[in-house]
Amino acid sequence: MKTIKSFFILTLLFALGYGTYFYFHDTAAPATQLSPNSGSITKKTPITLTLNDEASMLAHVTVLLIQDGKTVEILNKEYPENTPAAREQIDLSKQFLKDGLLTLQITSRDRSIYHFGDGNSATTSFQLLRDTRPPVISILSRAHNLTVGGSGIVAYSIGEVVENSGVQIGDYFFPGHQQLSGDYLCLFSFPYNADPEEIPRVIATDEAGNQGIGGIYYRLRQPKFIVDQIKIDDRFLTNKMPQFQDQFPQAETPLEVFLSVNRTLRPQNRAWLSDVAAMTSDSFVWSKSFLRQPGAANRANFGDHRDYIYQGKKIDQQTHLGIDLASIARAEVPATNNGTVVYTDFMGIYGQCIIIDHGLGLQTLYAHLSTMAVEVGDIVERGQIIGRTGATGLAGGDHLHYGVIVGGVPVNPIEWWDKNWVRNNITSKLQLSSEQ
Ligand SMILES: [Zn+2]
Repeated sequence: MKTIKSFFILTLLFALGYGTYFYFHDTAAPATQLSPNSGSITKKTPITLTLNDEASMLAHVTVLLIQDGKTVEILNKEYPENTPAAREQIDLSKQFLKDGLLTLQITSRDRSIYHFGDGNSATTSFQLLRDTRPPVISILSRAHNLTVGGSGIVAYSIGEVVENSGVQIGDYFFPGHQQLSGDYLCLFSFPYNADPEEIPRVIATDEAGNQGIGGIYYRLRQPKFIVDQIKIDDRFLTNKMPQFQDQFPQAETPLEVFLSVNRTLRPQNRAWLSDVAAMTSDSFVWSKSFLRQPGAANRANFGDHRDYIYQGKKIDQQTHLGIDLASIARAEVPATNNGTVVYTDFMGIYGQCIIIDHGLGLQTLYAHLSTMAVEVGDIVERGQIIGRTGATGLAGGDHLHYGVIVGGVPVNPIEWWDKNWVRNNITSKLQLSSEQ
């Protein structure tokens, strides 16, 4: 009787200990992650499998590829002892696959002595959509007469749903906007500083990453830009530089501040323009031509190359990317067309400035203002007074620096003041996206 009792207690203790051991020991299979773990893939999409089991270490993995009822083993790997984690590249490029759904079934096992030494094992399945066909782009608009520094618009359709599309010229990308008809419009510029050898193309990228390319028929004119000399004197420097001094504390003289403004602040201001460009509506919100500020004289044109001369020597050079209009001091500034105010604040060289969005990435900029009479979100009408001219920012005297921006890139405003140009090159191409 005593022996039976001892045996029973012993068995109980043993069972308890065994159970406790496993209770506190690892009972989970290796953590399995696949990247991407859903969505679309192309022939080239890298697929990475990550396995992790720090508690019991990895033992083994198999990967099965399943499509249309056919199963192929594409990975079968034993891990050496003490492998806590592993990363495997899943290569599908040598497999015969069709476009469409496929499944990757991953079975992994660890070295836990659970399951009488077989370890913890788990099988996870991931579904991916194989898509290897690039989007097909049809260009709907025909002749595109472009000028370096000018604007153009292209209408196109795409044969499938895409992640993004637009016009690429060298490093510049102008996003297209889908219209109610399903077709796209992309307003773009042949940028003033792009290599004239660059070829504008429509590109579209689908979710899988396949890229389609559409060629545009175009002619490119290279205008002659004026070379101008601007004399910088101490009076200008001592007058205008203190407002920028705090941004360049290491600059010791007003001249050094000026050079920092030109070389650092200008590029920053242009980067800011591309951020503002994203705040645009998907269609034009105007129909009449763009106004020119009445009674104002052109003091500087778009694309003017400026050499800055200080004490007889050239100290810097810049390109003027708007038109300077001067009349009387504190002259009224009208909105040049219907739009939505997307910016009203002080911004670097522009001083107090307003940006109005006219849709499809087209925006107008009014800089060096003394007063501003609108707020962000205001809907303004062509001719509505939005502020008064001034000399805030980097301005030698009271004037309006008027800029037209396309997708964040300054363009020549002269084209947009020309009714015939706007009709022939822009508005006549708009209805192409709604016909068919
Ligand atoms: Zn200017």
